[in-house]
Amino acid sequence: MLYSGSCHCGKLIASFETRKTPQELGVRTCQCDFCRRHGAVNISDPYGAVVIDAAERDAHRYRFALRTADFLICKECGVYIAAVIGAGEAIRSTINVAGLRMKEFLGIEEQPMRYGAEDAAARVDRRHEKWTPTRFTDPTLAKSFFGPHP
Ligand SMILES: [Zn+2]
Repeated sequence: MLYSGSCHCGKLIASFETRKTPQELGVRTCQCDFCRRHGAVNISDPYGAVVIDAAERDAHRYRFALRTADFLICKECGVYIAAVIGAGEAIRSTINVAGLRMKEFLGIEEQPMRYGAEDAAARVDRRHEKWTPTRFTDPTLAKSFFGPHP
C-alpha cells in the first residue's frame, strides 16, 4: 500500500510504501521532549520505502541532544514531518504521521517509546535497523542534510 501526506502548508510531501496494514505496522510515540512538544506519532518499516518530495529551500534541519539525526521541519508552517539519518544511498527515516496527517495511521493505539538510555552508537544502530529506506526528490536536499554529523 502507498500512503501519502504533507505538512500544513503542503510544501513538504512524504509518501510511505509498505506491505503491512497500519494495524500490523503500529504507531509509536517517542516520549522525548521534542516529539511530545510536536505531538509526533511515528511509523517506519525497514522493508518499506519513503519518498520525501520537498525543495531544499523549504526544509529546515534541526539537530539536538546526541545530534545523530536531522529532524525535518517546514520553514513555512513549522510542522515536523520526519527524522532522517544516513547519507547517499543509505538514507533512512521515520515519519511523523500526525504532522503529515496520514489519516490511515491516526486513531491506532499508540505505543509509547523511551530511548533516553541509549548512547549514540546504540541509537544509530537501532535507526539503521528499524527506520525506512528513504529517497529525496531534490538531490541537493539529501546532500546538504546528510553530510557528516558534527
Ligand atoms: Zn509546511
